[in-house]
Amino acid sequence: MQLPENEMVIGIPRGMNFYHNYPFYYGFFSALGIKIVLSDMTTKQTMNDGSALVVTETCLPIKVYVGHVLNLLNKGVDKIFVPSIQSIAPKIYNCSKIRGLPDLIRNVIKQPFTMIEATLDKSEKKQGLYEFLAEAVAPFGITDMAKIKEASKAGWRTFNNFYVMTKSGMSYKKALSNALQGKVLIENNTKEYPISVALVSHGYNIYDERTSMKIIEKLEAMDVKVYTSLQLSKEQAMEGVNTLGERLYWANEFEMTGTAGHYLKDNKIDGIIVLNAFGCGPDSLMVERIIRKAKQFNKPIINLTIDEQTGEAGFVTRIEAFVDMLFRKKRATIINKIDIEEETEREYTINTDYIETK
Ligand code: SF4
Repeated sequence: MQLPENEMVIGIPRGMNFYHNYPFYYGFFSALGIKIVLSDMTTKQTMNDGSALVVTETCLPIKVYVGHVLNLLNKGVDKIFVPSIQSIAPKIYNCSKIRGLPDLIRNVIKQPFTMIEATLDKSEKKQGLYEFLAEAVAPFGITDMAKIKEASKAGWRTFNNFYVMTKSGMSYKKALSNALQGKVLIENNTKEYPISVALVSHGYNIYDERTSMKIIEKLEAMDVKVYTSLQLSKEQAMEGVNTLGERLYWANEFEMTGTAGHYLKDNKIDGIIVLNAFGCGPDSLMVERIIRKAKQFNKPIINLTIDEQTGEAGFVTRIEAFVDMLFRKKRATIINKIDIEEETEREYTINTDYIETK
């Protein structure tokens, strides 16, 4: 690949926080004249390359991430952004693998390159967004804080545009593409689906098309409307966490328990699909609680665990069986409702045979 010459270039791996934060990074780095080179889309090769360097028990998203860093190195990028997002708010932490991402990469990838390891830590180090951004651009010799703050506004603009579009129901891909072009379009999608599900997982599991095996497209092709955390505001996700009676500790709980809690309470879904990476400690705790709550709300739930060995055929069969069950359940509910309504009508039909009219 031909890299831009005499330009500031930063490599961003398509993994982990990329799926939520890229609109911000795009706006921010571009405003400072820094060109972004992304790793290629995830392939089987990406997974194999990453898996070969880490211990087997490591969760799939981390293996994928390692593969993406290698991909950027193969492209000749020598400055790669590997942030350490420790804590997003006081006493709300990421999992240890996300927090220690730069250390992990340093230990498994021995090739020389400049790792830009900015740290966001709003708990212990009290290192907020501006400090994080200053660390991200210091290797390019940019130290003017006023410029950095100004560029962050451009980052927020792209980020907010992206979320406005996903909240309106636009697909992840389309919203991202529009946001990067500086467009904000609201889709008026009137298509009605007979069945709806909440897809509960992390962005890096859902929007990486190789990891998720395009689960959203597959469900939509089965006539199933899919809701995710991207249609929720932070307040709605927080309310969802409260619905499940949880105390917020993991940053990921907004995506997992928050999404599940919101859609369970909101009651517009027929079931929940949890997509869970094998080897994920925090998810195993969260999923357990979500399953218990789903039972209380009488909502069917399926937990699909994915790793690099997951075969697409078996994956699709499980989804189809679940969707089929949701359709049968819905039909039974509708028939039952009609029966009850007819019964109710019969009960209140006045029998006039014996009414004396004179
Ligand atoms: S939250 Fe789970 S899936 Fe994500 S990086 Fe941590 S262990 Fe891996």
